Amino acid sequence: MAIKVCERCKRETIKTETCDYCSRKICLDCEKATQRIQKLTRLVICKDCWGIMPRRSAYKNRHTMAQEAAAVAAEAAKAF
Ligand SMILES: [Zn+2]
Ligand SMILES: [Zn+2]
Repeated sequence: MAIKVCERCKRETIKTETCDYCSRKICLDCEKATQRIQKLTRLVICKDCWGIMPRRSAYKNRHTMAQEAAAVAAEAAKAF
């Protein structure tokens, strides 16, 4: 089994997951929370992103940052 290195704490770990808000590969210790949205979709947020309000609220709304940006753009387009 390959040993990976967490991009947040730099520790070696067996399993990493990718944070949906900063795209870093993080170990389980650095994950703040995860949630399953649909069968295949899972949102992961790291402890750093949890401290950044727009990212935390995007997580609570079950959006990735990319989806959130698209939603904001759609709202802006409606205003015209
Ligand atoms: Zn870590
Ligand atoms: Zn993150």
